[in-house]
Amino acid sequence: MGTAFDTIIIGAGAAGLMCAIEAGKRGRSVCVLDHSKKIAEKIRISGGGRCNFTNIHTAPENFLSENRHFCKSALSNFTPQDFIDMVEAHDIAYHEKTLGQLFCDDSAQNIIDMLVKECRINHVDIQMQVSIEKINHAHDAYTLATSNGTYTSQSLVIASGGLSIPKIGASPFGYKVAEQFGHSIIPTRAGLVPFTFEGAIKDQCKTLTGLSLDATIKTDKTTFREGMLFTHRGLSGPSILQASSYWNEGKDIYVNMAPDTNALTFLKDRKAQTPKQDIVNIVSDLFPKRLAEHICENSEITGRIADLPNKKLESLAGHINQWTIKPSGTEGYRTAEVTLGGVNTNEVSSKTFESKKQDNLFFIGEVLDVTGHLGGFNFQWAWASGFTAGQYC
Ligand SMILES: Cc1cc2nc3c(=O)[nH]c(=O)nc-3n(C[C@H](O)[C@H](O)[C@H](O)COP(=O)(O)OP(=O)(O)OC[C@H]3O[C@@H](n4cnc5c(N)ncnc54)[C@H](O)[C@@H]3O)c2cc1C
Repeated sequence: MGTAFDTIIIGAGAAGLMCAIEAGKRGRSVCVLDHSKKIAEKIRISGGGRCNFTNIHTAPENFLSENRHFCKSALSNFTPQDFIDMVEAHDIAYHEKTLGQLFCDDSAQNIIDMLVKECRINHVDIQMQVSIEKINHAHDAYTLATSNGTYTSQSLVIASGGLSIPKIGASPFGYKVAEQFGHSIIPTRAGLVPFTFEGAIKDQCKTLTGLSLDATIKTDKTTFREGMLFTHRGLSGPSILQASSYWNEGKDIYVNMAPDTNALTFLKDRKAQTPKQDIVNIVSDLFPKRLAEHICENSEITGRIADLPNKKLESLAGHINQWTIKPSGTEGYRTAEVTLGGVNTNEVSSKTFESKKQDNLFFIGEVLDVTGHLGGFNFQWAWASGFTAGQYC
């Protein structure tokens, strides 16, 4: 059996569907193949089921890549406003939650339905549960041996995403295809992922499970300030997820649990003003009691503040403003929102997303070594790269 298309796109996720719509609009016959049962599962589970579909403050600075300039062209070709226009044309209600993050009011399914509808309008053929066994290129055509027979196309677009959440379809497929055609891969690792700890820190986190606070997390390279959450295995929450993308194994992180307060000044002032007050009650003015008790216990500090030498207050203040801890690792791809690294962008055109090594082969979305911060940036990258490649593939 032979099924011939102008363009075959592998991966019915955010980038693949956007690319299919655009190529379809150009009159190309387009087929999207995906091995999963359901279309765009990651969109469905994203943003807590409401899909943080873009960020109105999207800028190249919100992305990590070995080649920091690569994302610029696509991000300016297709902006957050372009996606908002699409969402509004489909009457999808949305709101800004915080920091420019836009979410559906109702459900992430709205976004999937919109993309599928646009695919239908543009005559895109979406075929699910098709496993691709082998890809060959000869005589200006790609031939795909699949579980559903043989497909051929002039252009081939790899939109198979990264490695996070294998149980909903993530696979290293895209990297293998890239290598087959001579591309190099920037080493991959889990990003936007909770930290895990061992020993005493793990025990502390476990005791405080469920407690969240505003915190600044610093790594060697950068600082983020958002919410932080204690979990039974370590730390999570937006500021931790952001920091995880910049963290390297074996390195410390620095947690400021009271970013608006100079803890030493605060403690010294209180020593002067309320000398008879118990230290736990004083620290409880900054944090929930449970955390205050914990911090004091850890710094081995008890009793009236008047009786505490300034050295002790310094150590307590250090724990509050610069808690220095070494994660033992991360929760890994099982829960990571993204994969850092991927297809080397120096070998792909930033204008068209075509491979510089192989004619009519394109890479878009998360499979590339471009990773956004938390907050709608990763979908904006998927839309922008998919849109751009759709003009050429
Ligand atoms: C829990 C979670 C929540 C997230 N929330 C947000 C959010 O709110 N906002 C945001 O911007 N980003 C979010 N992200 C990140 C975002 O989902 C991804 O960056 C984005 O989906 C990447 O799009 P993509 O099209 O490149 O890849 P994907 O969306 O991962 O699509 C890849 C497709 O390829 C298919 N595929 C994989 N391997 C094969 C193969 N071998 N053969 C055939 N098909 C294959 C997969 O089944 C999948 O359908 C979230 C991620 C996770 C895991």
